[in-house]
Amino acid sequence: MKTRHDIFDLISISRMYGADSRYVLLGGGNTSRKIGEVMYVKASGCALSDIDETGFVAMSLPKLNAIWDKRYPENTKEREKEILHDMMEARCQGETARPSVEALLHSIIPFTYVVHLHPALVNGLTCSQSGKQSAASLFPDALWIPLVNPGYILAKTVRDALQETGESTLIFLQNHGVFAGADTVGQIEHLYDSIMKKLNRSVVRKPIFTEVKVHAKRVKTVQTAMERFYGGPIKYPMVSNREIASRLVDEKSFYSLSSAYTPDHIVYSGFRPLWIPEKIFEAEQPVEAVLDALRLFEKKHGVTAKIIAVQKTSVFAISEAAMALFLDTVKIAAFTEGFGGPRFMDDEQIEFIRTWEVEQYRANMSGK
Ligand SMILES: [Zn+2]
Repeated sequence: MKTRHDIFDLISISRMYGADSRYVLLGGGNTSRKIGEVMYVKASGCALSDIDETGFVAMSLPKLNAIWDKRYPENTKEREKEILHDMMEARCQGETARPSVEALLHSIIPFTYVVHLHPALVNGLTCSQSGKQSAASLFPDALWIPLVNPGYILAKTVRDALQETGESTLIFLQNHGVFAGADTVGQIEHLYDSIMKKLNRSVVRKPIFTEVKVHAKRVKTVQTAMERFYGGPIKYPMVSNREIASRLVDEKSFYSLSSAYTPDHIVYSGFRPLWIPEKIFEAEQPVEAVLDALRLFEKKHGVTAKIIAVQKTSVFAISEAAMALFLDTVKIAAFTEGFGGPRFMDDEQIEFIRTWEVEQYRANMSGK
């Protein structure tokens, strides 16, 4: 028998953070509440902003705990397949949705409420060179978890760390975000307020998103090529602001936007943008030249580019969602300046996310 009336407070706190782009974007983040032996956790692919009770999956905590007594294959693919099976089996009777990628991690955090978010401000810390040291001095009681495969391995890493250090209300995940756990929603809000206040004081500067003039002819050229490559007629999102313009000067200045900071960036805006040098506009047929660049990217990487960054021009995206996550990348890049500069996910982790069935499912659910 479901006790869904018990999760009204979980729904309202989920919507509150989900609707605030400072904390999370699109289908990112997840929340849970434990009631006795049941944990209600966000379903994969749902957005927190408009979640209702159908967006949560009831799971058996004893069944989730039993996962730790099992031995899984060493082979990553086989292991992930078995884990996914066991996660689905751990759902309470009658549940049909797929639980969040991080449900297992939620289950081991010893608090009633767990709220996991990806604030750009937090990721300025978790995606930076001195993130670990800065986190230790700003949040001495928090756990810092290095970059590991999400899902089972991440949950296992956190579980081992918790067994060593005891309870932690805050867990920072390198190149990902933060988990906050507490026994009341009021305490969760207090935790997030204090994180945001401290980080706001620690960043050296905020990104400058004032619009700048665009080169209309170049924009037309790129958009025409995009329409031909991706299909049209669609007006593909294009942005140019001071922060982006300062990074479109050359490839070196673009470095801090040139790869993926977190799994969500890979899911929504691609594992890396396509960089197009401005000399492309000197070609006899610039539209054809841009088309060639788009085709070459696809041939080389096996996927089409979701973000196209054109030197001294603008940034283009294949969808509003891709643009939203790219702008998040821009914010994170600026915030990392307060913590020793940017630090992207490593190639191995990027590859894991790109091929992980669980993330492909999530991307499909979000229509990306
Ligand atoms: Zn996350």
